[in-house]
Amino acid sequence: AGQFYLRVRVARIARGRVLVLIEDRTAAKRVEDMRRDFVVNVSHELKTPVGAIALLAETVQDNVEDAELVRDYSARVRKETARLEVLVQEIIELSRLQDGDALVEPEEVELDVVVAESLDRVRVEAEAKEVRLVSGGTPGLYVLGDASLIATAVRNLLDNAIRYSDPRTRVSVGVGVDPSDPELVRIAVVDQGIGIAKEAQERVFERFYRVDKARSRATGGTGLGLSIVKHVAADHGGTVELWSTPGRGSTFTLVLPRHRIEGPGAQADPEPS
Ligand code: ADP
Repeated sequence: AGQFYLRVRVARIARGRVLVLIEDRTAAKRVEDMRRDFVVNVSHELKTPVGAIALLAETVQDNVEDAELVRDYSARVRKETARLEVLVQEIIELSRLQDGDALVEPEEVELDVVVAESLDRVRVEAEAKEVRLVSGGTPGLYVLGDASLIATAVRNLLDNAIRYSDPRTRVSVGVGVDPSDPELVRIAVVDQGIGIAKEAQERVFERFYRVDKARSRATGGTGLGLSIVKHVAADHGGTVELWSTPGRGSTFTLVLPRHRIEGPGAQADPEPS
């Protein structure tokens, strides 16, 4: 930070006269650095499951007559493969988002519908932990963008809320108009989980950053979920807010520009319920 990258070119155009071209490469350098870091991180993250799979498969091969071991290790191979699948999927998603071509044809996205869809996708995990899923808020709110990306973002937030909470707690998701700006909508995911320490709150949006690597891995985390959420928000002209108290819980809020539906079907401003 605070550094500039300038490319200076000097050309002699005539006797005693030179042309000096100064190009500001700061932004380009940052993009280059980010891409290089991403590739380094990705290779590192891929090595872990690939290495584990290779080792497990080798052990199975050396112990084919041990039925119990074969069963156990094959199950572990499957688990690591599933992790690898999620990781590759998320890497593809993230690089698509970074290229910024995800929003070429924006559509009218109804937030209730998207939230309901995301809730459906995490119901199995929630039930397995007996986490109670609650949803509510204002119906009939829209944003302009990509429904499947917004659903992915909300799903990632719900996944985390469930993953970093104790059994028999509550996770809620609410949709509403921003109380201080009627041109913004808010989708808030609230949990009663382990929370995030102040000093980690900014870092959790970084690619592959986890507060507790072991816990994230054990629960199938990749460290990419929140950076995807951040990119989805940014691509829609929005932001992500985080409030958290360690030991009490966290609230992640997607704040997006509101889209008002035109035509005869349009309603007046819905009252918050
Ligand atoms: P992961 O796949 O590890 O969950 P994320 O990018 O989704 O990756 O999140 C990064 C880290 O932020 C997590 O590893 C976890 O330490 C922390 N985190 C995310 N959501 C929550 C939450 N709701 N409560 C507590 N910690 C969270």
